[in-house]
Amino acid sequence: MKNVVVLGATGSIGQSAAKVALDIPQRMRIVGMSAHRNLAKLEELAAQFPEAALCITDATAPTPDALRCTRKVLRGEEGLLELATLPEADMVLIAIVGIGGLRPALAAIEAGKDIAIASKEILVMAGEIVMEAARRKGVHVLPVDSEHNAIFQCLEGRDPAHVRRLILTASGGPFRQATAESLESVTPAQALKHPTWNMGSKITIDSATLFNKGLEMIEARWLFNVEMRRIDVIVHPQSVVHSMVEFVDSSVLAQLSHSDMCFPIQYAVTWPERVTNTLPPLDFSQLARLEFEAPRRDIFPALDLARHAGETGGTLPAVLNAANEIAVAAFLEHRLSFPGIWKTVAAVLAAHRAVAHAPLDAIVEADQWARIHAAQRIQASHDMK
Ligand code: NDP
Ligand code: MG
Repeated sequence: MKNVVVLGATGSIGQSAAKVALDIPQRMRIVGMSAHRNLAKLEELAAQFPEAALCITDATAPTPDALRCTRKVLRGEEGLLELATLPEADMVLIAIVGIGGLRPALAAIEAGKDIAIASKEILVMAGEIVMEAARRKGVHVLPVDSEHNAIFQCLEGRDPAHVRRLILTASGGPFRQATAESLESVTPAQALKHPTWNMGSKITIDSATLFNKGLEMIEARWLFNVEMRRIDVIVHPQSVVHSMVEFVDSSVLAQLSHSDMCFPIQYAVTWPERVTNTLPPLDFSQLARLEFEAPRRDIFPALDLARHAGETGGTLPAVLNAANEIAVAAFLEHRLSFPGIWKTVAAVLAAHRAVAHAPLDAIVEADQWARIHAAQRIQASHDMK
C-alpha cells in the first residue's frame, strides 16, 4: 500500500490519480490533496477521500464551510510544503501546472519521500538540482509524463551503456499537417482541440506548438541522465506507442497502451510491481495502423529552440520555460498570435546570458527575468498594432 499526496489534485492529472486510487484501493491511498481555485472539484474529491488532508493554495479563495467542518484545511505555499512532507506520505505526486510544484518537490525529497513527477516544467527548470537532491537522499523519482514513463519501463534492468538513443513520440497536435501561413490565424479554441489526449489547457497549447515535446526532451535529459544529442523525437499521430529506447545493437523496445494517463500514474505508484486494474487492454485487431513521420522542424521551431536550451543548460532551460508560459497565457487571452508564442520564446532566449550549472537562486532569478522580459515584448508588440 502506498500513501500518496497529490499536489494539483483538481487538475486533469490529479483527477486521473483519483481514478487510479479508486481502481486499485488495495495499493494506493490518497492521504493529501491540493487545489488552487477549483474548490467545487476539491469538495467532490474530499467526499471521495474523506481521510485526506487538504490544502488550498490560492490566497484569495475562502475555505468552503463544508470542508472546514470536516477537517483541517492548510493554506497557501506554507500549507503546500506541509502537505508535501506529511509524515504518513510515502510518495508525493506533483501535478501542479507550471513551476509551483518545485519547492514542494524539493521539500518532499528532503523529507525522504519518493516523488512522482507529472509537472515537467520543474525538471526543465531545475532538473539537475532535483535529481541530485533525490540521489543524495536516496529517494526515487518516478516519471508520470507518458513518454518518460514508457522510457522508464523500457530501460528497466538494462545497462545504461547499452542505450544508444531515446525516441520520444509526439502526436503532432492539431496542426500536424497545417501550412505555415494558416498557423498565423489559429485561435485558442482551435489549438485547444487535441486529437488524442484530454489535458489541461497549458499543456494542450504546448502540444500544438510542439513546445511540449521540446520540454520533454529536456525532462528526459535529466530523468535518465542522457545527453540531448541522444534524444530524438518522432511524430506518431495515434499516440499508442508512448516512446521507445534504441539499444547499441539497433534493437528497439517500445511501450504501448491506450492514451489514458491512468496507465503511467498507476505504474509510478505500484512500481516495481504491476497490478491488475479495470483499464482496457489494447485490441491490436482494431488498431488500423500505427504511423510515424519526422517532425516539421522548420514550421514548428519549438523543438530546435528547446534543443538549443537543453544543450546550453544552466539557466537557459528555465528561461525557455518561463517565456513559453507567459506567451501561452497571452495567446489564450488573445493578446498574442500562435506563431507569436515561439517568436517570443526565441527573442527572450537570444537576450539571455546563460549561467552554467546555476544554483537554485540563479535559476529562480532567470525565471523571473524571462517572465518580465517576455511580458514586456508581448505588450510592446501589442502597442505597435
Ligand atoms: P491542469 O491545468 O488540468 O491542472 C493544474 C493543477 O494545478 C490544478 O489542480 C490547479 O488547481 C493547480 N494549480 C494551478 N495553478 C496553481 C498554482 N499557482 N499553485 C498551485 N496549484 C496550482 O493541468 P494538467 O493536469 O493537465 O497538468 C499538470 C502538470 O502535469 C503539467 O505540468 C503538465 O505539463 C503535466 N502533464 C500533464 C499531462 C496530462 O495528460 N494532463 C500529461 C503529462 C504531463 P485548480 O484547478 O484548483 O485551480
Ligand atoms: Mg507527455
